[in-house]
Amino acid sequence: MKKIVKKYGKFLTKTSEQYKEASAKNRVSCKRGCHECCTVGFFDITLLDALHLRDTLKDVPAAIRKKVVGRANAQLDILEKKGAFSRKDPLLKSLKAIDSISRRSAKMRCPALDDNGACLIYNQRPHICRIFGPTIRGKRRAVHLEGCGYFRRDIPEADFPILSNYGDEEVLLKAMFTKAGKKRKREVDTIIPAALTLDLEKFI
Ligand code: SF4
Repeated sequence: MKKIVKKYGKFLTKTSEQYKEASAKNRVSCKRGCHECCTVGFFDITLLDALHLRDTLKDVPAAIRKKVVGRANAQLDILEKKGAFSRKDPLLKSLKAIDSISRRSAKMRCPALDDNGACLIYNQRPHICRIFGPTIRGKRRAVHLEGCGYFRRDIPEADFPILSNYGDEEVLLKAMFTKAGKKRKREVDTIIPAALTLDLEKFI
């Protein structure tokens, strides 16, 4: 599994580089100081994002790591108390489950967001955190990734090949399930606080 997680790390680095180039070419960037998308509850991340985050967390300075993991645990305590999440069953197995946790955590900030709006796990951050921003459009203006409403300009798929990016991600996800001995490669996700605090490999 380590090898697959390492490959995923390379995929994330390549994604960030491609996305940076596409953003510069199309002159799109987040509003200075905006971190709204990190403050409106938990979105779903893949299990590969979770394994990668957990594996590379050791590269984050110990004091910061402790703070982020502490916040994540406190948030999970609150969510468990509300019956919105369970550490014993931390996978999101349907769109309904994803919508539910997103709604019930809507007032929570990402535990990795610092008081100045910076991401404390920038190099470890999940896939979606690297590509969320402007809408990415394919041929005939088809929406391939719905972006944030603050952007006036889109990124054309010709500059950031989102579908082939998803395809590469899918190959690695399948490899992860195969390695875990799972024949049925169903889509299952989780949330950032769970990825920061739990060993999710045993839940695959
Ligand atoms: S991991 Fe970083 S970029 Fe992603 S939601 Fe959290 S603070 Fe924002």
